[in-house]
Amino acid sequence: GDDLIREVCHRLSAALGDGVLARLGGDEFGLLFATASKEEALARCEAIVAACSTTYMILGHAVQISASMGLVLAESTREAESADHMRMADLALYEAKRAGRSQVRLFDESMDESVRFRQTIEAGLRQAIVRRELEVVYQPIVARERLDIVGFEALLRWTSAEHGPISPSVFIPIAEESNLIHELGDWVTAEALAECQRWPHQYVSINFSPRQFRRQDFVESLAAKVAQSAVPPHRVQIEITETAIFDDDLRAAETLQRLRALGFRVALDDFGTGYSSLFNIRNFALDCLKIDKSFIDGLGREVESAAIVNSVTHLARSLGLGVVAEGVETETQNQALRLAGCSHLQGYYFGRPADAAATVQLATQGGADEAAAAVA
Ligand code: C2E
Ligand code: MG
Ligand code: MG
Repeated sequence: GDDLIREVCHRLSAALGDGVLARLGGDEFGLLFATASKEEALARCEAIVAACSTTYMILGHAVQISASMGLVLAESTREAESADHMRMADLALYEAKRAGRSQVRLFDESMDESVRFRQTIEAGLRQAIVRRELEVVYQPIVARERLDIVGFEALLRWTSAEHGPISPSVFIPIAEESNLIHELGDWVTAEALAECQRWPHQYVSINFSPRQFRRQDFVESLAAKVAQSAVPPHRVQIEITETAIFDDDLRAAETLQRLRALGFRVALDDFGTGYSSLFNIRNFALDCLKIDKSFIDGLGREVESAAIVNSVTHLARSLGLGVVAEGVETETQNQALRLAGCSHLQGYYFGRPADAAATVQLATQGGADEAAAAVA
């Protein structure tokens, strides 16, 4: 691999002639050169791609590779910054790769669709609350022993008038990048607290994005809302992800302490997908870990997943933490997780996220049979 990269460098620099050549990482290079016209630049890029897309002799073996290239003319986008040029070149490269091997593509505005898509989503989200396009649905979390429903996770849904239903995994990150997440989050919290009052005893588990969690007045404002709603704090669980706590761990540890002192429950969501280890989470005041669905998916298919689930569960328990398995879909997974000692389970197997009315019914009936019926 190293030999091949070195060879490619030689050919690139010979084909480029006057200009700047940089290795951006892995097998990606950046080239900067002056040009008189678009046509000339394209011809030059094509020559460079052709020079790279040949056979190499590496350690006595013939190796065939090809290159793709995205081109952006800086002059035509005078206003843009270098970071924008890199992004545009990247979009053009993506198009070149989609077109097949050894292609060159010149950036044009239509490639900026992803950017425009983001802007559309953002504009739509700004209107979503007043247009009443948002809804909170609730998914049961059951206790392992008797499969009683002990809580519900509040999950946001958005059905846009223009685009139909849009997944939170699409719009939450966009809201997170803008300030919209605060408005959305406040709305979800208010809804979830109102619904929780209609359930006999279950807690409501609310997702908070890193940006919400890091807000200066996060604890005060949440405590005020909860006090106003008359829901006792122990019936409110705060779900945060590893990213929220590990960027500024001292401050996060303090925030968590305060939340716990006020009686809130705290869950670490999507555990295993970030960079945290069980070693450093012991510094944080948590009630439980939610093992990410990706590990549950592997159960019964690959030994590694089972090993990870088992050891996470074991260690979490020795730290006095509960373990919620997320995304349980099958009886096999259910059995394996109960054996592994997960204290709580959540997933389509027990119940899909349901609207507020159906959730009140489920909450008052309790029982897993009803939850299973809701799946059917
Ligand atoms: P999450 O907090 O990890 O939520 C679990 C996700 O897994 C939900 O997706 C849920 O519908 C889905 N799920 C649960 N059980 C199963 C199962 O058995 N199989 C499969 N395939 N999926 C299952 P959803 O509702 O699309 O939400 C995606 C993510 O968006 C959430 O992941 C959470 O990070 C975020 N999110 C949702 N609502 C909110 C919110 O109100 N605020 C914030 N900050 N984030 C939210
Ligand atoms: Mg969650
Ligand atoms: Mg999760």
